[in-house]
Amino acid sequence: MSRYDVVIIGGGAAGLSAALVLARARRKVLVVDAGAPRNAPAAHMHGFLSRDGLPPGELLTLGRAEVTSYGGEILEDTVTELVRGNDSGFSMLLSSGQQVSARRLLIATGLRDELPDIPGLAKRWARDVLHCPYCHGYEVRDQRLGVLGASPDTVHYAQIVAQWSADIVFFAPTDTVTTAQRAGLAARSIGLVEGMVQRVLVEDDRLCGVQLDDGRTIGRDVLFVPPRFVPHNDLLVELGCAIEESGWPVRDSTGQSTVAGVWVAGNVANPRAQVITAAGEGSAAAIAINTDLVHGDVRTAVHDVGL
Ligand SMILES: Cc1cc2nc3c(=O)[nH]c(=O)nc-3n(C[C@H](O)[C@H](O)[C@H](O)COP(=O)(O)OP(=O)(O)OC[C@H]3O[C@@H](n4cnc5c(N)ncnc54)[C@H](O)[C@@H]3O)c2cc1C
Repeated sequence: MSRYDVVIIGGGAAGLSAALVLARARRKVLVVDAGAPRNAPAAHMHGFLSRDGLPPGELLTLGRAEVTSYGGEILEDTVTELVRGNDSGFSMLLSSGQQVSARRLLIATGLRDELPDIPGLAKRWARDVLHCPYCHGYEVRDQRLGVLGASPDTVHYAQIVAQWSADIVFFAPTDTVTTAQRAGLAARSIGLVEGMVQRVLVEDDRLCGVQLDDGRTIGRDVLFVPPRFVPHNDLLVELGCAIEESGWPVRDSTGQSTVAGVWVAGNVANPRAQVITAAGEGSAAAIAINTDLVHGDVRTAVHDVGL
């Protein structure tokens, strides 16, 4: 079984950024990546200083080359099982059947976006059905925007999306918007359409509106939809890491979980993390992991020389 200082599970922005720092710290590091980063369906990535507009896959290609140039290893594979060893190390099984072990672990497995079950919506995801105005709002500025509001707290989301267009409609189930929220929407000329959106309308491979359950159709060019964020936390659960009721792992400011030797970074722990934030969390976790390894190295060295 190959043994590493650190195995990083997940090779998106968080995992690769951590791997770069650890490989440059001369640690033996392996990234195991299943190859399904969350923003893969998007044509371009925005808001990453110096890389704005790059296709998401290109950032990862550049990142992988940097990691391997310092001796970091990358495997396209999936970690299916994780076991904590007696010596505070970890061993894991990959879907290829390979087994590896590590002194420390970084879990950077991301999250999945669960969209409302509205016919036609998922097919338009990352094209003209969007969720993050900071990622793609500028690209659809001044178009006819719609915001699907499944719950009253999405009124605030509509107010944010209004930053990118004066032509905006908030769709909400009937009688769920409070008087104060109505006033806020009207004051900023945000249209309110009450009823259930039944399906998405598409013409010439472009979204052109929505149909409500009472038959009304409302023309829109783009829909903003808040998905339900579901962390890929199975491995953390398997290891016994504390998980909040909402599903997010408990962690300290460096990303260390409640299990010694296990860190988390990026969307698996923080649904708000943009690519640049996820990369930053990966880097911070890597520095904390190396510090922890150095503490362990000192203990071992003192023991070995019998002091
Ligand atoms: C449509 C869309 C567009 C977006 N556009 C932008 C944008 O323009 N700008 C921006 O800043 N942010 C954008 N985001 C957010 C961005 O996707 C995240 O910030 C970023 O992907 C988080 O990086 P991460 O490393 O935490 O997770 P991810 O990038 O999702 O990487 C996680 C990796 O872990 C792997 N993995 C999971 N489980 C395992 C396992 N068991 N074994 C091995 N590997 C595993 C996955 O396959 C994946 O490759 C967008 C999101 C979406 C949905």
